[in-house]
Amino acid sequence: MNVENCGVKDPTWSKIWSWRGPQRVKSFLWLLYSNKLLTNASRRKRNLTDDEMCQICQAGAETCLHVVRDCDVAKRFWCGLLEGREMKRFFSLDKEDWIKENLNGSFNFRGVKDNDICFGVVVWLLWKVRNSTIFGVDDKFLEPLDLRVKILSDEFSSMCDVGKGCSNKEVVWIKWKPPELGSVKINVDGARSLSEDWAGCGGVIRSSNGSWLGGFFKFVGCVSVLEAEIWGCLEGLELALKSGFDSVWLESDSLLAVNFIRNGCNDDHVCAGLIKRVRSLMAHFRYVKILHIFREANGVADFLAGEAVRKKSSFYFDNILPECCKLLILDDVRGVGRPRLVNCDVGVSL
Ligand SMILES: [Zn+2]
Repeated sequence: MNVENCGVKDPTWSKIWSWRGPQRVKSFLWLLYSNKLLTNASRRKRNLTDDEMCQICQAGAETCLHVVRDCDVAKRFWCGLLEGREMKRFFSLDKEDWIKENLNGSFNFRGVKDNDICFGVVVWLLWKVRNSTIFGVDDKFLEPLDLRVKILSDEFSSMCDVGKGCSNKEVVWIKWKPPELGSVKINVDGARSLSEDWAGCGGVIRSSNGSWLGGFFKFVGCVSVLEAEIWGCLEGLELALKSGFDSVWLESDSLLAVNFIRNGCNDDHVCAGLIKRVRSLMAHFRYVKILHIFREANGVADFLAGEAVRKKSSFYFDNILPECCKLLILDDVRGVGRPRLVNCDVGVSL
C-alpha cells in the first residue's frame, strides 16, 4: 500500500493517532507510514541527489524501512531487543505490515512492558540518531556507532522505563536557573523539520530575576541540527552585544555545540566557520560563561527554534515579553521543573 491509496478505513492510521506516546513521536510515525521522510531514496525521486545509497552502511538504498529497520545500526539495536525466534519474521515483513504488527505489540521486546510504545520511540530515535550522525558529526560517524546505540538505549529507557524502578536510575526535576546578578542568560536551541530539509534556531535573553530582555527566531535553511544550534549561539551573542550586555551566560542543550564553542573544532569540520565566528564574537564581552543544560530546562529557546521551522522565517523581539512566550517564561520564573530520568551516579545540579 502507498500513501495515494491509503483509505480512511486503513486501521493503521487510527492506531497511529491513538498511539500512547509523545506527540512528536506520533507525528514521526505518521511520516514514516506515509513514506514522507526525507531519505536519500526520496531525495532521488525529487531529483535532489543521484545517489540513493545509505551513507552509513553502503549496503542498500536509504529508504524509510532501511533507516528504521534494515540499516546496520538499526539492525543491531533491534537484535538486542528481540527474542531469537521472532527475528526472521521481524526482518522479513514489508513496511506497512511491519509497522502495523509493531503498533499492535505483536513482537516481544526483552525487558519491555509496552511493546507498541517501545517500537514508536525506538524508530523515532533511530531517525534522530541517523540525522545527528550523518549531518552533525560527519567527520567521525563510523567510529561511534556503538556509543550511538548506547545513547539510544539510554534515551529509550528514560522514555519508556519511568516508574519501572531501574536500580541505577532516578527521576530528577530539571529547572531553568537565572544567572547571577549583573549577568544576563542567553538560552539558545536549534530545530530541524522532520519532513523537509530545513532548520532554524531560537534564543531568549533573561535577567537575573528571569525577566525577558529580548529574543529571536531565525530560519537557517538546509543545515544540520548541530549547525542550527551554533547559529543560535551566534545570533544570541550578537543580540546580547547589540543590546549592550557585556556579561553573559550562554546555555545550549547540545553538548557537542558547547564543546566546540569552548574548545574549537577541526578546520575541516562543516561547522568550523561558524565556530570561529562565535569564538571571535565572545572576545567582545567582558565575561562569557558557556553552559550545557538538559533540554528540559531549555523550553523557551526550544519553542522559539520550533517557530523558525514552523514559520520558515526569522523574527527579532524587543524587550517586551511576547504573548507566545508568556507561559513558558512564567514557568521558569516560578521554578517549575520537568522530569528527567538520569543515572544516579551522574551528578545533576538542580
Ligand atoms: Zn544503512
